[in-house]
Amino acid sequence: MRLYTCCIDCRRDISFYENAKDRYALAIIRGQSFELICENCDKLSYYHVNQIRMDQNKAITLGILSLLIGCAMGLIYYFWPQLTRAPIVLVIWGLIGMLGVLFLIYQEITTKHKSQVVYFNRRIYR
Ligand SMILES: [Zn+2]
Repeated sequence: MRLYTCCIDCRRDISFYENAKDRYALAIIRGQSFELICENCDKLSYYHVNQIRMDQNKAITLGILSLLIGCAMGLIYYFWPQLTRAPIVLVIWGLIGMLGVLFLIYQEITTKHKSQVVYFNRRIYR
């Protein structure tokens, strides 16, 4: 997951990747306080795990979306000969159903990802 904090000198975001579901897991991996180097001002500073926040990973969302669109295109291409012969009403309902299922899959994955972000950011390390 993409984690970030604010540089104490220049206030720009410092981001890094770590596979931690919450700040306790992050503290186990990196320690309660750990050093990060700001890419903007090149300054090395220590940050406590409670200063770290999780960001929603847009790459994951975009990746899932493009994968689902790819699946939809593949299915349409594969069933094209049958689609051209089938009654138009059936084709339209089939497309609506397929888009509905793909939308539900997309929503399920992004909702799960959002709840992971909320869980990380709400849980304070004590
Ligand atoms: Zn900085």
